[in-house]
Amino acid sequence: MAITKTDFMRGMQCPKMLWLDKHRPGLKVIPPEVQARLDAGNEFGDRAMAMFGPFEEMTVYRPGTTIPDKKAMVEKTKQHLLSRTEVICEAAFVDYNNYCAIDILRKSGAGYDLYEVKNSPEVAEQFIRDAGFQYYIASRCGVRIGKIYIVIHGEGEEEFKPIDVTQRAKGLYTWINEHIWDLNRRQKEPEEPAIEVGEQCSLPYECWYYGYCHGTVNSSESSMPE
Ligand code: SF4
Repeated sequence: MAITKTDFMRGMQCPKMLWLDKHRPGLKVIPPEVQARLDAGNEFGDRAMAMFGPFEEMTVYRPGTTIPDKKAMVEKTKQHLLSRTEVICEAAFVDYNNYCAIDILRKSGAGYDLYEVKNSPEVAEQFIRDAGFQYYIASRCGVRIGKIYIVIHGEGEEEFKPIDVTQRAKGLYTWINEHIWDLNRRQKEPEEPAIEVGEQCSLPYECWYYGYCHGTVNSSESSMPE
C-alpha cells in the first residue's frame, strides 16, 4: 500500500515518524499507558459496530494470522456496496494504492453516512482530519458519502454519541490531496529525513520514536511492543 490513514496522520505530524515506521519500526517504543489506551479504543470501536443494530464486518485476516488481508477486505466491501448492505463496518477502500478502512458506513439516501469512532469525550481536530482522509479515499472510489460523524463516548445510557463534522471533514479534501502524494514520495526516500526534534514530538500525540530522536535510547532496535 502507498499511504494509509495512519500513515497520513503520522506523516503530517512528522515526516520522519512516517519514514521510521517504514524503514526502522523496531525503534518504536509504545508506553504501556498508550498501549492500554489503544486497546480500550479498539474495544470501544468493536462495541460501536452494533450501535445501529445488525451489521456486516469486512475484516478478513490472512490465513493463520491476525494480519488484515486488505485486498480481500476491499473486494468484500465492493460486494456489500453493490448489494446495498445497510451497515458496513471496517469498509475498506483503495485509491492508487492509498488505503483506508472506515469504522462504519450506514446507508442513507442514495449513498452512505460515514462514522469514525473515537473513545474520547470530545472531538479533537485530528479526528476530523482522520475522517476527512476516509472521505477523500472513499469518494475517489465512487462512494457517495452523505453526512460524516465522529462517534465519541456519551454519558449514562448513551454510550455512543455521533457528532456531525460533515462540512469540516469534506472541506479537507484539497488539503489531503496536496499532501498525500508528497508523503508517499518521502516515505520511500532511502535516507532518514534530517528533521530536528521540536513541538511535533508531542503534539498532537507523543511520538513513539521520542527516545530515539532525543538520544535517550540507543538504536539497537530491541524488543519494542507493537
Ligand atoms: S521524535 Fe520528533 S523528530 Fe523524531 S520522529 Fe518523532 S516527531 Fe519526528
